[in-house]
Amino acid sequence: MIASFKDHVRKTGQPETYSLITTKQAFDLDNAEILAEFQVDRKKREDLRAVPCPICSPTSPKYLAGYLVWFPQERVIRAIGRECGKRINEKWDREQYAFKKRQQQEAREEYLEANLHLLPNLLLDYSAELARADAQETVWLAMRRENPAIAQYLRSGMRSGYLSVSERLNSRSGIAMTTSAGASKFREVRIGFCVGQSFVASKNELAKKLKQQLEMLSLFDFGNEPNRCFLAICDMTTAEMEKAERAIKRSKVVLDQARSRLDDFESFFSSQNIDLINQWAGHPSSELNFQLEIANNGNRFKVRSHEFGYTEIDLTTISLTQ
Ligand SMILES: [Zn+2]
Repeated sequence: MIASFKDHVRKTGQPETYSLITTKQAFDLDNAEILAEFQVDRKKREDLRAVPCPICSPTSPKYLAGYLVWFPQERVIRAIGRECGKRINEKWDREQYAFKKRQQQEAREEYLEANLHLLPNLLLDYSAELARADAQETVWLAMRRENPAIAQYLRSGMRSGYLSVSERLNSRSGIAMTTSAGASKFREVRIGFCVGQSFVASKNELAKKLKQQLEMLSLFDFGNEPNRCFLAICDMTTAEMEKAERAIKRSKVVLDQARSRLDDFESFFSSQNIDLINQWAGHPSSELNFQLEIANNGNRFKVRSHEFGYTEIDLTTISLTQ
């Protein structure tokens, strides 16, 4: 009935003409129950006049935002203005609050019914990304251990996304750079846009974060049978439902964030990015000179520098697609 009422209001803009409600004036709201809220489109109203209200204004225009209300004593339904109940019943705000709570609860149950049985798939996705995060963390730790100075140099150099060096201007270059502070002896040379900052980030807590989320989600794993999940929802308290809904919604956000970070980490090793970094790190004006190489079909990461020698890091576990 609620759905057909709303449909009628949407089409006609006339809640007062719906056949199953009464427009007779109401004097008592005790035990009345809000069934739904609705909005009337003024453009559909005759002379753009608002709807008369059976609480406070049965014969003249009053409201556009309304409630559909069940009156149990009279066994009738009325459509009233949303602000009107308070006029004749000081406890009406309690019913408004209870209605909001009922709506939230209904939406929560709907969400869980639609999502709870998909949770085993979400858990599989999490396990896959957790394995990736673990493998990447090992590589990240190796980079810090084997090449601490280079890792740090990369981190600060890559920070803005643009790799650049400051080139000293000599008398022969003929370029005069003037700033408000006077003549500059340096100019910035931009090499290009780099990716993969996660590989040299100062912190890497992604695996930990994914693990926590995975554990939290597992609490609500009732399998992928919709019927079984439905029964599980029926057994949940409101607090448990809230927790489950929050956990699932949050997990989807965390998973998306994790994936883009994991992809970013891998993108560091793309040949285009490595070439760019080599161009930057090999530039005569670079403060630190080194060269990177991906070898053995993407399974080895080699770093060479005069200052720190030669190191190799195993990339087998992060399975790069070269
Ligand atoms: Zn009213």
